[in-house]
This record gives sequence, C-alpha cells and structure tokens, in this order.
Amino acid sequence: MTFEFTPAAERALVAAAAWTSCDDAGELQVPEVLLGLLAEPECRSALLLAARGIRYHPLFTFKELRPDTREVVSSDGAAHQVDLLIAVPPHRAPEVVRSSPLLGVSGFVHVDARTLETDHDGVYAIGDVATIRLPNGKALPKAGVFAHAEAKVVARRIADAADGTTSEAAFDGKGYCWIELGDGRAGFAGGDFYAEPDPTMRMRRPGRPLHWGKVAFEKWWLHHWL
Ligand SMILES: Cc1cc2nc3c(=O)[nH]c(=O)nc-3n(C[C@H](O)[C@H](O)[C@H](O)COP(=O)(O)OP(=O)(O)OC[C@H]3O[C@@H](n4cnc5c(N)ncnc54)[C@H](O)[C@@H]3O)c2cc1C
Repeated sequence: MTFEFTPAAERALVAAAAWTSCDDAGELQVPEVLLGLLAEPECRSALLLAARGIRYHPLFTFKELRPDTREVVSSDGAAHQVDLLIAVPPHRAPEVVRSSPLLGVSGFVHVDARTLETDHDGVYAIGDVATIRLPNGKALPKAGVFAHAEAKVVARRIADAADGTTSEAAFDGKGYCWIELGDGRAGFAGGDFYAEPDPTMRMRRPGRPLHWGKVAFEKWWLHHWL
C-alpha cells in the first residue's frame, strides 16, 4: 500500500505514527519540497521521515490524477499506483478575486506590508488572498496565524477611519506554528518575518508538552469562536 502526501511533512509523520501501530507492511511516500522551517536541526524532516521508513521525493511534480486506475502521474509521465491520496490542490485566489482589478502578477492581491491596504484607497486584503513582499524579496507564507493578526489590524484601521482618526495599527509580520511529529510530540517555531535581511525564526525543542500545547490552543479556539 502506498500513501502520497502533500503539502506538509508533518502529515506524513503523524500518519507514520498511526501506521506503525498497525500490521500492514505498506509504504508511505512524501512527494513534497518541504518548508524551510522543517529543515531546522532539531526537526530535520528528511531524517525524521527516513527514521520512520517514509520515502521522501522532493522533486516529484504532480501532473495528473487518474481516479479510475488510482494512479498519480508525475511530470515525467510515470504513473504511480496509490491506495489513498492525501493532497492539497494548487493554491489560487477565488474566481471573484481573479476576475477583479485587485489581482496582482502573483495571482493574489498585493498589499502594503504594514497597513494591508491595496492599490485602491480604503480597500484591504488579508489572509491567503493577499500577497506581502518580504524585505528579502520573497512572499510572506500563507498561514492562519497571519490571517488572524491581519484581520485585527484591518478592523482597527477601518474603525479608526470611521472615527476620523489616523490609524497607527500595523501588521508586524510575526507568526508561529506548531509542527506535529507524530507519537504525541510536536515542535514549535516562531519568528519575525519582517526582519532584515531575512526572517528570523526560533525553533523550540520538540516534545510532548508542545503537542499538548497545540491541543489546548485548538480547544481554546473551538470554544472561543464556535
Ligand atoms: C493542509 C494545510 C495545513 C495548514 N496548517 C496551518 C497551520 O498549522 N498553521 C497556520 O497558521 N496555517 C495553516 N494553514 C494555512 C491556513 O489554513 C490558511 O492560511 C488560512 O485558512 C487562511 O485563512 P483565510 O481566511 O485567508 O482563507 P480561507 O480559510 O481559505 O477562507 C476563505 C473562505 O472564503 C470562502 N470563499 C471563497 N470564495 C468565495 C465567494 N466567492 N463567496 C463567498 N465565500 C467564498 C471559502 O469557501 C473559505 O471558506 C494550513 C493550510 C493547509 C492547506
């Protein structure tokens, strides 16, 4: 049995932990170029994957899915049989945005890094639909933690504008995330994406307390918002 995973190695690691607890002599594969975060020494994903017997294919490029024959085809035309495919489709802005004058060359809406305002006065974009250029020329990764912080900034700016005051609210480019490693362990990385010349990230040593920290964080969110 073969699994194919994208986009994150953590899904493979969590699945591997569950996988090794059953008897199937199958095979897990990760065909993804991994996040830079996961290259930190404590959490070197390729090593972690290898330790769990997961084959890692960083150069695999998805071309086509053949549901009838359960095949995934790579860009060289080779067909790979799968029993279960867990994949995230290519990321793009919704049609309503793609067909609007807000769309930038990236395929998303370009905004000011601090105010999140578009080229159109009083029009903002936040979250995955927005693209923010970092000091090193790369784009800010798309993550829920940024969408949340950006929403607060834009809400404040709109409220200040309604009050007739000049808003000081600005997005600081700081973010964090947990990285599940399976077996009830997680790592945690946080940092400043607006740091110059490159983002600065700090990785906390993976362990069980961080996994439970993530569980508590999720429970708080569900309780607070739903
Ligand atoms: C596998 C995976 C793992 C992730 N893990 C993490 C993580 O650990 N930490 C983290 O911070 N981020 C993570 N992310 C990223 C995070 O999910 C996104 O960055 C975040 O959800 C973006 O929020 P958003 O509100 O901008 O967009 P979305 O959450 O995509 O919300 C947009 C909403 O708009 C709706 N919509 C679209 N078009 C229309 C329309 N025309 N009319 C009305 N509604 C419309 C959509 O249905 C959707 O509900 C992960 C993403 C994936 C795919």
